[in-house]
Amino acid sequence: MSGAESPTFGVDLGGTNVRCGVVDRDGVVLREVREPTPLGGDAVVATMAGLVRRLAEDFPEAAAVGVGAAGLVDRDGAVQFAPNIQGLRRAPLRRALEAELGVPVVVDNDANAAAWGEVVHGAAKGALYALVITLGTGIGGGIVARGRVIRGAHGFAAEVGHFQIDPDGPVCACGERGHWESYASGTALGRMGREWAAAGKAPGVLARAGGQVDAVTGVFVGDSAQAGEPDGVALLAEYVDYVAIGLAGLANILDPERIVVSGGLVELGDALFAPLRTAFARRVEGPEYRPEIAIVPAQLGEQAGVIGAAARARDLEAGGSGVWVR
Ligand SMILES: [Zn+2]
Repeated sequence: MSGAESPTFGVDLGGTNVRCGVVDRDGVVLREVREPTPLGGDAVVATMAGLVRRLAEDFPEAAAVGVGAAGLVDRDGAVQFAPNIQGLRRAPLRRALEAELGVPVVVDNDANAAAWGEVVHGAAKGALYALVITLGTGIGGGIVARGRVIRGAHGFAAEVGHFQIDPDGPVCACGERGHWESYASGTALGRMGREWAAAGKAPGVLARAGGQVDAVTGVFVGDSAQAGEPDGVALLAEYVDYVAIGLAGLANILDPERIVVSGGLVELGDALFAPLRTAFARRVEGPEYRPEIAIVPAQLGEQAGVIGAAARARDLEAGGSGVWVR
C-alpha cells in the first residue's frame, strides 16, 4: 500500500557502484544495498531492478523509483552519454525500468539528484538560489533557481565541470582540453600532488606516500595540509584557487545565496573552506559591494544522490510524470 507517508526508492548510478536505498519522508535512508556498476544498458537496468526488488521484499509499501545517473540524461529519462560508465549510450533507462518493475520511475542526472537532496533535506534547505558542487572524480553541479533544479532545454544543464578555463590545458575525461574539472576535481588535486612531488616541491606529501611519486593522491595532499606542512598547505592553496575560479565565475553568472560543496575533500573542514572562502572573495566580481555568498559543506555526504533521487520519486506519487517539466 503506497501513500503519502510511504518511503520511496532512490538509486544512485555511478561509474563504480549502483546504490539503491529506501528513503523515508524525512530523508532518512532506512536501508541501502549496492552492486558494482555492470557494462552496458541492459545489464545496468537488470542490476537496478534487482536492487529495488531486494529492498521491496521488506518495504512493499514503497512504489516509486527515482534514479540519479552520472551522465547526460534527457527529459524522457534516457541516458544519452555517460563518460564514466562504459557501454551506456542512448539508453532509455526510465522506460526500461518502468517496464521491468511496473511502477513509476523518474531518471535525472546524478548531480541534479544530489542537489535536490541537499535542497529538500540538507545544506541548501530553504534556499531559492543555490549552487551544489561535488568535487570528486570529476566535478558535478546542480543549479537551483526559484527553488527548482534547472535542467535546461534538453536536460543537460549544469555540466559545470566542462566549462573551459584553458584551451591548452590538460585533456578532460570528455576529450576536450582545460575544462574546469581537469584543474579542480579531486582527481586533479592528486595529479598536482604528483607533479609537485616529481619536481621535488612536495617533500611532506611525498613522505606520506611512502616516497613513491606514483602513489601520491589527493588524500595525502589533504592530510599534509591539515597537519600544517608547508608543501601541503601551498599545494592545497593552489588547488583551492582553481576551485574558486570556477565558483566565482558561476556566482557572477547565477548570483546564488549559498554554495554547497560536497565530495571527499569536504572532510578537511577549515583546511579547505578557509582558503576557499578567501580565494573566492578575491575572485568574485565586486566582493565589497555585494552580500557575502556563504560557502558551506554538504550535509548528506555520499548519500545525497540516493536521498535526492528518492525525493524526486515522491513527485511521481503526487501525480507527476517521469518526464520533466521545463
Ligand atoms: Zn570536459
